[in-house]
Amino acid sequence: MQNIQAPKGTKDVLPSESHKWHYIEKTMREMCALYGARELRTPIIEHTELFLRGVGDTTDIVQKEMYTFTDKGNRSITLKPEGTAGMVRAFIENRLFNEPMPQKLYYLNSPTFRYEKPQAGRLREHHQFGIETVGAFTPETDAEVILLALSLFKKLGVGDLMLHINSIGCPECRKEYNAALRAYLSEYINEMCETCRSRFEKNPMRIIDCKEEKCRNIVKNAPRTIDYLCDSCKRHFEGVKACLDAAGAQYVIDPDIVRGLDYYTGTVFEVISNRIGAQGAVCAGGRYNGLIEELGGQSIPAVGFGMGMERLLAVMEANEVVFPEPEGTEVYFAAQGEAPRMKAFALVQQLRENGVSAEFDHMERSFKAQFKYANKLGARFTVAIGEEELERGMVKIKCMADGEETEASLDDIVRYFK
Ligand code: ATP
Ligand code: MG
Repeated sequence: MQNIQAPKGTKDVLPSESHKWHYIEKTMREMCALYGARELRTPIIEHTELFLRGVGDTTDIVQKEMYTFTDKGNRSITLKPEGTAGMVRAFIENRLFNEPMPQKLYYLNSPTFRYEKPQAGRLREHHQFGIETVGAFTPETDAEVILLALSLFKKLGVGDLMLHINSIGCPECRKEYNAALRAYLSEYINEMCETCRSRFEKNPMRIIDCKEEKCRNIVKNAPRTIDYLCDSCKRHFEGVKACLDAAGAQYVIDPDIVRGLDYYTGTVFEVISNRIGAQGAVCAGGRYNGLIEELGGQSIPAVGFGMGMERLLAVMEANEVVFPEPEGTEVYFAAQGEAPRMKAFALVQQLRENGVSAEFDHMERSFKAQFKYANKLGARFTVAIGEEELERGMVKIKCMADGEETEASLDDIVRYFK
């Protein structure tokens, strides 16, 4: 019979790798605490409608990538393809707008599903860390969200990332921009891919983001949003840059960034690595002042980002970051004979209950093989218990680092290690 394999584009995190994830997760939580952000966990499944409205039906995600199914109750359900829509839904549904503003809400390790062609940096299930700051509209707020990401990269020891920022303006500037863009694109419409042709009327800005070669060539000389900002959007963007300057953050203005989701307004940004191949965006986000209202809430501004945790890990590995090793076993009890084995078993249990990691022989191996195994576990101390030790009530504790031995009474051993 053929073995069953994991679905294409998914990845197991093996025990030899999971400590890296723990380290990243812990650092993220600590960083969020420093920035005053609190975790909001939302379900992996949502009503499909949420993403149609909240991500937008001219996006790659909605047009090509969602994992959508009908459940047994005949509802259309979709596996989360990004983090923001669910966060906003939860914000509205749980009336978080009644709490003091702004609210900084984060999620991490959030399983995210996209039906993409699996390749380096593109999985069908990946995991995201993200933050949404809701309720504030100042440029400082945008800059703070960006700086949270940059602080995290710094803390995790990744140096070679570049922050790209742009502004795509508000619905006011978008009108003039869309007109200019359509005027430019109308000449080429027959040469563009089918998806872009369907975007031409509804949301031509999305065409700037198309990954198809032929569309990219056409788009090269197309007008860019940044040249069509209204005074207020211009001022906001200048403000964001001033804040980043004040914080000493490096960035480039990148007029090509329009972002994958429909609901962005004003500031958009990506943090990009050139060391993990073609899919170099580790973090991407922006301001979305229209989304909460779009999803049935009040008109409340917000800004946030999503960060691909697998890509972050890849960047860290490319930077040869040293991950803190997980703590190994503190004490290994080698035992032989029925009574000594039972004693070792009981002591291990007592130690664990006292917060000391301890291990014993599950396999009825020889003393020699048990010590070898203790070595593999990286045990800091070993204690050998045979019939003789049990009779005398005394054991030798061996420190594995220097081979030094200490005698201790069996009755005292839990206190000794505690
Ligand atoms: P791309 O241009 O690479 O398709 P996107 O615009 O679809 O990116 P976002 O929706 O902004 O990406 O997602 C936020 C982050 O999540 C990305 O910057 C990336 O780090 C990560 N990400 C997105 N899609 C995938 C995927 N299929 N596999 C792994 N990570 C991903
Ligand atoms: Mg994508």
